[in-house]
Amino acid sequence: MIEIAIDGPAGAGKSTISKITAGNLKLLYIDTGAMFRAVTFYFISNNIDYENEESVNKYIDDICIELKHINGIQHIYLNGNDVTKEIRTEEISKAVSVVAKNQKIREMLLDIQRKIAKENNVVMDGRDIGTCVLPNAGLKIFLVASVEERARRRYKQLVRRGKTADYDEILVNLKKRDEQDMTREIAPLKKANDAIIIDSTNMTLEKVVKIIVTLANERF
Ligand code: C5P
Repeated sequence: MIEIAIDGPAGAGKSTISKITAGNLKLLYIDTGAMFRAVTFYFISNNIDYENEESVNKYIDDICIELKHINGIQHIYLNGNDVTKEIRTEEISKAVSVVAKNQKIREMLLDIQRKIAKENNVVMDGRDIGTCVLPNAGLKIFLVASVEERARRRYKQLVRRGKTADYDEILVNLKKRDEQDMTREIAPLKKANDAIIIDSTNMTLEKVVKIIVTLANERF
């Protein structure tokens, strides 16, 4: 099976780049961040204190996360409901890194992620794909960009979607999320030893995709 792992901090362009790369190479794109977001959505919409490990662990068995691809687009289902759009809010972005620290949640999602990669040729993006989920991936990319550039991109993305956005708030939240993702005990955000770093700060999307597609064609 072909496995391409793309990891990096929030807003580095992982999802857009992974999606286009997967389309070019005819592989399945898997956005693992969406799974953590859907779990976070469950806790927030049910008013469950997601900062309290005990209460989170109590509800884990009530959560069912599924992925389906419709016309090449990933849809994420929480207990049978399509929550693909609902998980893209700043409220979820702020809370998700706290939920993602939880060991039981990570184990539940790890099983789903590995099962999908066993059955499909994938481009999978996240934080721990190269280090933990798919340690034997044939190509690992660690995609970075300056935090200011990432905040600018996130700001523009929200404005494009017609949402209100505050650049300074986005910057603070990104820094906080990176810090939480990099310093957590289980599967922190970290470059795998055999990952290739791509700094996209001053690169177009197309250029980054071209580099990854060229690397993939050399390896697979
Ligand atoms: O990629 P996205 O920004 O949607 O990810 C949301 C959050 O989910 C991350 O900030 C991180 O806390 C968590 N995550 C993770 N491991 C992954 C993917 C995402 O911990 N493989």
